[in-house]
Amino acid sequence: MKKTFLTKAKAEEIASVYPTPLHVYDEKGFCDNADDLYDAFSWNDGYKEYFAVKATPNPTILKILQKHGCGVDCSSLTELLMADACGFCGDEIMFSSNETAAEEFVLAKKLGAIINLDDITHIDYLKKHAGIPKKICLRYNPGGDFTIGNRIMGNPADAKYGLTRPQMSEAVKRLIAEGVEEFGIHAFLASNTLGNDYYPELARILFKTVRELTEETGAKFVFVNLSGGIGIPYRPDQEKNDVHIIAEGVRKAYEKELLDHGICGVKIFTELGRYMMGPYGVLLTRAIHFKHTHKEYVGVDACAAHLMRPAIYGAYHHITVLGKENAPCDHTYDVVGSLCENSDKFAVDRPLPEIEIGDLLVIHDAGAHGFSMGYNYNGKLRSAEVLLHPDGTFERIRRAETPADYFATFDFMPEFSQYKR
Ligand SMILES: *Cc1c(COP(=O)(O)O)cnc(C)c1O
Repeated sequence: MKKTFLTKAKAEEIASVYPTPLHVYDEKGFCDNADDLYDAFSWNDGYKEYFAVKATPNPTILKILQKHGCGVDCSSLTELLMADACGFCGDEIMFSSNETAAEEFVLAKKLGAIINLDDITHIDYLKKHAGIPKKICLRYNPGGDFTIGNRIMGNPADAKYGLTRPQMSEAVKRLIAEGVEEFGIHAFLASNTLGNDYYPELARILFKTVRELTEETGAKFVFVNLSGGIGIPYRPDQEKNDVHIIAEGVRKAYEKELLDHGICGVKIFTELGRYMMGPYGVLLTRAIHFKHTHKEYVGVDACAAHLMRPAIYGAYHHITVLGKENAPCDHTYDVVGSLCENSDKFAVDRPLPEIEIGDLLVIHDAGAHGFSMGYNYNGKLRSAEVLLHPDGTFERIRRAETPADYFATFDFMPEFSQYKR
């Protein structure tokens, strides 16, 4: 059974101050989880998690993660600006972008971020616009299928990211000639993986490539960035990954592929997003309508604009009706939002306890790629974000949008002047 960190009483207390729909984050949950990750990788001197900002781009959350040792992984101008405003600098910022604009490289270089090049042609582009730094990372795409045993985990051949193996060799040689002294390597070959074998297998491939490139070019590799991709159990019958088993698998590959060949001091970096925040944020919404037509519908005050994953991926998000955690799931509902889009359904044919108007529903696992993927379709306004502290107090960490925000880009038009902030 999936449990939520919110009780009905606490949720009602929060909703009485900040009306639903609302994203709520569990500070204790994501802090303990970050500490546990660091514990798992403590065998590696210099291990660092660069939290993927796109998953949960909130300054308060970034600053808390920073206190637990995390850096940030950015891929756009505004993510870099947010990182800078939150006090991240230099090696604390990884810039893993693609199809990167010149101004983004310029800012990344100015902040001293570690730049992760997505393509060999970006060497000249970076040189022309920002200059080549002393330390750089290259994103590798091995092509083919990415398999573990006989399971296909991903399809790198189809992915737009990264350099081919021959391009990796050529890029390293060219970058050495441009004065680069320290290298890193990065790859992201599978997303939202369950089971504990993704990182170890990815690590093996990257460590082996580091060894080959070192022998071939004499380059000094100082880190391997395993990127994101550790998944979370969205469904109640799925099991949580064990980062201690994962980190141990990476350690074995590290010994076999690097240490046994005399390559020492390589740091492990990760760029996890979903694993860091996914389970520790929920979308809190209230049942406001019933509709009995060809199916039984529960209309809620949130919609796909607040959490897109069900609408665009058909993704499962567990739902708990607060106060009815132990009631039998003897009703079947479609739980739907208000967009003029038939895909705006948080759940289809979901067995749930009997729902009454006014009930608070928790939509689980919305802490990563939840709020951040939201949009303004149908003129829907983005919700507030609230942080629940370990002592039970709570804090608004983003206000809800108002019509003034929605009309802000028309602020040059007199008919919208009444909405100016
Ligand atoms: C999205 C992304 C991540 C985070 O992925 P998760 O699946 O959330 O762990 C990390 N690195 C890069 C380059 C990404 O694009």
